[in-house]
Amino acid sequence: MRVSVFGSTGSIGESTFDLLSRANHDVVALTGGANVARLAQQAIALNAQLAVTAYDHCLPDLRAALSGTGIEAAAGTQALIEAAERPADWVMSAIVGAAGLAPGFRALAQGATLALANKESLVTAGPLLLAQAAKYNARILPVDSEHSAVFQALVGEDMAAVERIVITASGGAFRDWPMSDLAHATVAQASSHPNWDMGQRITIDSASMFNKALEVIETREFFQVDPKMIEVLVHPESMIHALVGFQDGALMAHLGAPDMRHAIGYALNWPQRAPLPVERLDLVKLGQLTFQAPDPGRYPALRLAYEVMEIGGTAGAAFNAAKEIALDGFIAGDVGFLQMAGVVETVLTEMSGRQGLGNAAVTLDNVTQTDTEARALARALISTGRI
Ligand code: NAD
Ligand code: MG
Repeated sequence: MRVSVFGSTGSIGESTFDLLSRANHDVVALTGGANVARLAQQAIALNAQLAVTAYDHCLPDLRAALSGTGIEAAAGTQALIEAAERPADWVMSAIVGAAGLAPGFRALAQGATLALANKESLVTAGPLLLAQAAKYNARILPVDSEHSAVFQALVGEDMAAVERIVITASGGAFRDWPMSDLAHATVAQASSHPNWDMGQRITIDSASMFNKALEVIETREFFQVDPKMIEVLVHPESMIHALVGFQDGALMAHLGAPDMRHAIGYALNWPQRAPLPVERLDLVKLGQLTFQAPDPGRYPALRLAYEVMEIGGTAGAAFNAAKEIALDGFIAGDVGFLQMAGVVETVLTEMSGRQGLGNAAVTLDNVTQTDTEARALARALISTGRI
């Protein structure tokens, strides 16, 4: 198979690299950010045709690291798009944030199977991405662990028989913290996850449950179910990734060790299953699995996700963009941990009133415009202290 990996140097990218190193695929393009030394190493190890850094100023270093290898080097947003236009059979979308949308969108246009880790693509432009896949007869396979789990639980089932979809959440770094301490939570404290080893942004989003909020919307878009059918369950052990409930009362649960190589490998080998180098669960050793209802006071992001789905239109783009700016603000020390949800809620409220987010058609132009406006508004709220 011809494969490309967008965001190859990240957490999902490295897990994908690990699986590709064990297989025999023709690697077309690998892309990364500022870590060009690692990008070049990966490209050499997999004998890729092309390596792209997202940043122009990193190109000389990438070129130097690849000199004499015959591997092409390129840089910038346009180069990412061109990399996505190179024919490939399987494309991993693992850039973090809204920046992942455009390459995935282009990859679908050349008929590639898109392994989608970049949940932001579905949150900001779900209907657009699905229409693009349908237009070019391309397939999108979920890589988020919960969505891969749901996808697997649905094999051979009729969607009409599905009553509910339950996605699990560990509760993140602060699940057991007293609420009074949350306001002072630091970036370092929010950047460590109890069960999963992931990129910093999604780890902080797990502590605030903004990650789960994005995943609720991702579930709605991917499986085209009514928001009322989607539930979130706090499951501290992160062994069950999702459950699908059917109209006969049966619940199909998907269990596995918290290792993203499972979901990535499932998408890579689909529709077959192939051996994967992941830990096998020892349920006796585990002894018990526990569950809690999410506390709405602790996790306002979850309520906002349902509001976004209620508003519809380009509300997902505004939500994600405001969240990205609030998260930047938290990482920079300008926004408190609990203030992130406030920034996002104010952006949603103001934009759905003024701009009529719900009535906007989900076109690439409207999504881009909403994204830009939401970022500007979120930045203004933060810089003027209106949070
Ligand atoms: P990460 O921060 O570890 O890696 C992100 C990758 O994207 C890097 O290669 C980085 O260089 C590149 N990148 C960052 N900003 C970019 C930009 N503006 N333009 C182009 N490239 C850019 O992130 P991650 O944890 O691997 O997550 C990647 C995506 O997968 C996210 O959408 C995340 O929500 C999703 N996801 C991650 C996990 C996980 O276990 N890490 C699980 C489920 C879903
Ligand atoms: Mg997930």
